Amino acid sequence: MKSSYVLPALFLLAFAFGSYRSLRASPEALDPGRELEIAELARSSSPAQTGTFPERWINGTNCGSEPKMQVHEYNKDFYILRQSKCEIYEAPFLYLIFGEDRALLMDTGSNPSTPVAAIVDEVIQRWLLLHGKTSISLVVAHTHTHADHNAGDAQFASVPYVEIVVGKPLSEVVQFWGFQNYPIDQPTIDLGNRVIDVLGTPGHQAASLTLYDRETRLLLTGDIVYPGHLFVFLESDWPVFITSMQRLVDFAAEHPVEWVLGCHIEMSSTPGVSYAWGTTAHPDEHVLQLRPEVLGRILRAAKSMGSQPECKIFSDFVIHPVFKCDSTWNG
Ligand SMILES: [Zn+2]
Ligand SMILES: [Zn+2]
Repeated sequence: MKSSYVLPALFLLAFAFGSYRSLRASPEALDPGRELEIAELARSSSPAQTGTFPERWINGTNCGSEPKMQVHEYNKDFYILRQSKCEIYEAPFLYLIFGEDRALLMDTGSNPSTPVAAIVDEVIQRWLLLHGKTSISLVVAHTHTHADHNAGDAQFASVPYVEIVVGKPLSEVVQFWGFQNYPIDQPTIDLGNRVIDVLGTPGHQAASLTLYDRETRLLLTGDIVYPGHLFVFLESDWPVFITSMQRLVDFAAEHPVEWVLGCHIEMSSTPGVSYAWGTTAHPDEHVLQLRPEVLGRILRAAKSMGSQPECKIFSDFVIHPVFKCDSTWNG
């Protein structure tokens, strides 16, 4: 190279390298995950209704004595049910929320022979007694339409106080919740002095929803966010997953979220160590509840992978694109 070309060439190289660096840095710089914003908003005030979590959930280590479902009263109008791992390894969580006029059951479990309708009926009868009422109607709906969340649906078909069991096709989900433009708009449901915001959050599954209960400020994320394997099954769903995570982050930056509650636990209590899919007992599992900042961390982790997602374990979640490693992958 002639010396007269060296200086301009160096300039060009420096410019190109600088552009490359700023291009690489820009996603992080523009979107740091907004964890601080989310955390500060959550801390700035308290929800109208608070609640408590149990010391431990049934976890499949005591199949002789575990109930088929653990019913936990988060508060007098909000119940969390956990299906036993002895019934089915998926051991999903179900949510039962009471308003003044209606109750809402999100999901019916993984095993059609678990008497979920009878268990829910017991809670409803106790709630009616406590509240001096004689009846309330029940809406049965789903966080998403994977089979481990709707196996008990048929049990509710003949229950007289059930207003509707929402169907599985996306068209029925969209119609029931009142989406005009799923997943972009954000309808609400009023259970009677209790308004719940409904967000479309596909990516894990096409009809996935996230619910925000304004009274408790709990964010029910289904299978898109929980302390475990965040499965994205199809390559074409990866950008959909990221868009939904962005939707959740934006929501939590504008609405205070007390806890994020998903539908499974697969992390252990040791950070970065998870139980593999299909494990039938969790002797030392993570708690169910996640701080809302986790939304920002998941978004950041997913965005940093760009269009080349990896199967990767983080402290309290696993990014698990099934098209890159199969669902039994565990690090
Ligand atoms: Zn699922
Ligand atoms: Zn599930």
